[in-house]
Amino acid sequence: MEINSKTRLCCLIGHPVKHSISPNIHNTLFQKLNLNYVYLAFDIDPKDLRSTVRGFRAMNVLGFNVTIPHKINVIKYLDKIDSSAKESGSVNTVVNRGGELVGYNTDIDGIINSLKDVEYDNCGRALVIGAGGVARAAIVALRNLGLEDIIVCNRRLWRAAALVRKFRNDHLKMKAISISEASRYSRNASIIINATPIGMWPNVDETPLNSHEISRNAVVLDLVYNPLKTKLIIEAEKAGAKTITGLKPLIEQAAKAFMLWTSIDPPRELMWSVAEKTLKEIFRNEG
Ligand code: NAP
Repeated sequence: MEINSKTRLCCLIGHPVKHSISPNIHNTLFQKLNLNYVYLAFDIDPKDLRSTVRGFRAMNVLGFNVTIPHKINVIKYLDKIDSSAKESGSVNTVVNRGGELVGYNTDIDGIINSLKDVEYDNCGRALVIGAGGVARAAIVALRNLGLEDIIVCNRRLWRAAALVRKFRNDHLKMKAISISEASRYSRNASIIINATPIGMWPNVDETPLNSHEISRNAVVLDLVYNPLKTKLIIEAEKAGAKTITGLKPLIEQAAKAFMLWTSIDPPRELMWSVAEKTLKEIFRNEG
């Protein structure tokens, strides 16, 4: 696709953004689907967030993705947020609807669509490891899938306790524990989601749980996607559990964002091949 005066811009803002694979995924889709759009990543200092969003509005961008550390703070500069963003309190995708900037959280769709393909006991208990941005999305996703018992564990216990206060209600039983207690609850969990960077490159030998702490009836979803196969996924396989690597939710959240911008359901196979190729290149370059 030739870039010309009609090309519309789509962006990612974060701090940092240099390891993001979103530009590779979305630009490949735009080209293959013959769409006159281009996707660029911008490293935006938190002090420049407001002026950046004002600039995007003036430039009539098609939309943008938002990543760490702007997912919560961006909300105050938008015109509207949908229910997914309201529930999770964070936005990772913004759509320009005729000049109105509308925020969504497609991480929730990413997690739901990743779990939809596997069988699990939804009367069972879920364990969410982490209490940051994507842990909130995980809790909303689990609740929307019908889970009624969720344990949140975190290094800083008060953050897990804050999430429990936010989400607990008559239909959802929740408990906050410290990450050091995770193994006491993990053996009985039917779904385990790692929403921390534990095991992420270069700390590839780290895992929040070992095989003897995971039930063979569990489904283990690791949101870390570099490396593609984390130590947690290897331990879960050893335990005989079903596993989902972080690339699946990453691709599903990108697919939902793409749909919001273009109204086209993008080809997942192409997205997988671009994502895997790009991640392998990043690893090769970083040793
Ligand atoms: P975040 O808001 O910064 O939260 C990080 C969480 O990890 C916090 O709960 C933090 O605990 C915990 N943590 C950080 N370092 C830790 C360590 N060394 N030991 C134990 N706990 C630690 O980040 P986020 O946006 O939630 O992202 C978390 C991870 O998910 C990242 O690796 C990110 O790449 C990945 N992610 C994947 C997808 C996907 O689609 N696959 C989407 C979004 C994010 P404290 O509160 O105690 O600091």
